[in-house]
Amino acid sequence: MEAASPHSPSISWGLTGHEAAIRELDRGLRADRLSHAYLITGPTHVGKMALSIRLAQAVNCLSPEDAPCLRCSSCRRIGAGQHPDVLVVEPGSTEEGRARRDIGIDDVRALQHAATLNPYEGKSRAFIVNGAELLSEEASNSLLKLLEEPPPRSLLLLLTTSADGLLSTIRSRCRRIELHPAPVVDIAVLLQQHEDLPPDEAEKVARLSLGCPGWAISAARDPSILDERTEEAGRILQLVHGGMEQRFAFSAELAGSFFRERDAAKEHLYLWLRWWRDLLLVKEGAGQYAADSDYLIQQQELAQGLNTAQIVGFLQTMDRTLDALDANANARIALDVMMLKLPVPPASAKVTEPEDGDVDPRWGRARSGPGYPAS
Ligand SMILES: [Zn+2]
Repeated sequence: MEAASPHSPSISWGLTGHEAAIRELDRGLRADRLSHAYLITGPTHVGKMALSIRLAQAVNCLSPEDAPCLRCSSCRRIGAGQHPDVLVVEPGSTEEGRARRDIGIDDVRALQHAATLNPYEGKSRAFIVNGAELLSEEASNSLLKLLEEPPPRSLLLLLTTSADGLLSTIRSRCRRIELHPAPVVDIAVLLQQHEDLPPDEAEKVARLSLGCPGWAISAARDPSILDERTEEAGRILQLVHGGMEQRFAFSAELAGSFFRERDAAKEHLYLWLRWWRDLLLVKEGAGQYAADSDYLIQQQELAQGLNTAQIVGFLQTMDRTLDALDANANARIALDVMMLKLPVPPASAKVTEPEDGDVDPRWGRARSGPGYPAS
């Protein structure tokens, strides 16, 4: 990927962040040299789905000179999730309402069948596999055939938080696009301009988002998402100072919610990750850089009782837990192990509950925006 020229015109496709990825895709689009398959990687909510939708709009736009124009009927229908040539495949849920653990062979067969047909309306069919790390072995092998003989006028987009979870033969047949968190200042501007948030509120939500515009927009629209972090902060303090029984009750509860609504349960782990990352900053005397400044007093108290290695070790444990869950490990065991590794401060450490710190986490709230799931 070329470095950005300071003089190159800024192309955003109407998105916040991802300039390098958009520049590369836009160049491919203009030169008619897009790959038939892309592997789009990046953390949850960073904007993988939003970029995929833009790419599907770009290849089908009725106004090619400024594609994706976002105004033509094709762009609008794709944006609203109502275009017959754009197909999203993801784990979803079973008829019994449980979160499915994988993307199975039937999903890929449906996709393969669709790929043999000409586009109904558009110029190109776009197939988006959201959560590609969850493709079953059988489904992966089937998808590989599609990648080996790509049908004409089709675009395959594989979205994943962890490319390591995919077959290397799949990875090597896709062009890789890595998405990174967007600058906080850009997200703050987005929230002020499009969500009508006052500047101080926009700045706060932007910092909390850790560079993920999708999360920031969801939080701006749904205040309960911000309330939830208060509940979670209370829960973390309670568990750090609590006994094994409480810790295992928590892992059982979270594993149960993981079974029902995978993304919402992972969201809780991201809250934990952010809180512990801030704790590390506080421990190192850099609390002013914390994503969330509402818990600094509680974090300062806890930081006194823990050493840096304990905090770093637990951050690594949480990372490994998220990786294990992405790789379809047994959620209960993975979360039990995480709870066993939760650091224990000296019994003398003081606990100050956060304001409004009622501990009653409501697991399982979906936060997908309209049209397409967040990714
Ligand atoms: Zn258009």
